[in-house]
Amino acid sequence: MKIRQNTFFVSLLWILLITSSFAWNYTQAKREQERLALHTARNLFNHIIFTCRWNARYGGVYVPVSKTPAGEPSMPVPKDTIRVNASLSLTRIDPALMTQQIAEIAKENNIRYNIISSHPINSMTKATAEEEIVLHKFEKGLQEEGKFITTAENSSFSYIAPLKVKPVCLQCHDKQKYKEGDIMGGIRVILPYARHPFLDPLLFAHIGITLMGLLGILVAGIRLSRAYAIIQRQAIFDALTGIPNRLNFAEHIVKEFSRSSRTKESLAVIMCDIDHFKAYNDTYGHNSGDKCLQKVAQTIKNSLVRPGDFCARYGGEEFVVILADTSYKGAIHVAERIRFNIIKLQIAHEKSLPLQLVTLSLGIATSSDQPLNSYEDLLKNADAALYEAKRKGRNRVESYSDIPSSPIM
Ligand code: GH3
Ligand code: MG
Ligand code: MG
Repeated sequence: MKIRQNTFFVSLLWILLITSSFAWNYTQAKREQERLALHTARNLFNHIIFTCRWNARYGGVYVPVSKTPAGEPSMPVPKDTIRVNASLSLTRIDPALMTQQIAEIAKENNIRYNIISSHPINSMTKATAEEEIVLHKFEKGLQEEGKFITTAENSSFSYIAPLKVKPVCLQCHDKQKYKEGDIMGGIRVILPYARHPFLDPLLFAHIGITLMGLLGILVAGIRLSRAYAIIQRQAIFDALTGIPNRLNFAEHIVKEFSRSSRTKESLAVIMCDIDHFKAYNDTYGHNSGDKCLQKVAQTIKNSLVRPGDFCARYGGEEFVVILADTSYKGAIHVAERIRFNIIKLQIAHEKSLPLQLVTLSLGIATSSDQPLNSYEDLLKNADAALYEAKRKGRNRVESYSDIPSSPIM
């Protein structure tokens, strides 16, 4: 029962441990993903800024008019067009327009970015209300903002960082009265991101480890229970005969003796000893001696019919029987039955005369024989009766109350 309880607690502890491990790993993986997303978005932002600055350094770059995409957003700055020859005219693309055109290409790869501004030259870059809040935070010192956005269709990482005025910017933005270092807007980068790609593998790995651990604990628990049951059995049962051992007997007699003291009911003890057993061993060998002991033990056990009757191996070839609520007469009856059943076994013992069979001598003592201080007195009396049975020739039952010298009643 205790092992079962312990197995349950160990299992609970294991589940707790794995749950903590899952929580820790999940938090770490989430943090790492956020760090990576922020890093990627920041790099992209910087790259856009570098490209813009490169463009601004030359006051815009010229591209063939014929190659500019259809539906190109119109810019408020005058478009310089240079006719190079009959087939080639070049038009100036400023940093903002270049950024928008590159953004169109990036969109094909699911990466979106756009310039946002509170006071745009081009209305397409007008910040939304939500973006305005972030731009306002940049004015107050915020360096960047990145967060995961999850919608029903997909999830992405949104990053916004401020666009600060550099001297090269002023050639286009001079009308807006910016000074160097002012925040003239920001760039928003949106990267596609699976929200928690690590969640499923992490979850399945932890479920797997949990189940494997629980299985291990269960198997160990079952094995331990079995081993414990064997040890427990070995502790209270005699290994050779299979009947209760002396330790078991000691526990039993203490209980029965105190019960009989309480209830004043007669408690009887029968000490049984195989006659001439040393000679049996010497004649038939130790193995035959063991087999004989097993048969005798089983026969004593089978001779007890009441559920409360108890027998144990007391020592080498000695057995003891406890009969609760049994008078002297009843005990004699049981002892004679045992003696008779042993003879009925017909185990040859040529040195045990006159029957030349294995026989038992039995000594009886009851708690009503005389006032007793402890159960040990009862055993001593039964021993004395057994000694009397041996003295009178063996293969017989003697009662302590019948010994003339015994201080009875
Ligand atoms: P008595 O009739 O006076 O009881 O004579 P006994 O020979 O039976 O008594 P004794 O005490 O001299 O000898 C007991 C023998 O029981 C000695 C020992 O070898 C044998 N014995 C004790 N335990 C075992 C056992 O587990 N297996 C076997 N085979 N023999 C045992
Ligand atoms: Mg003996
Ligand atoms: Mg003996």
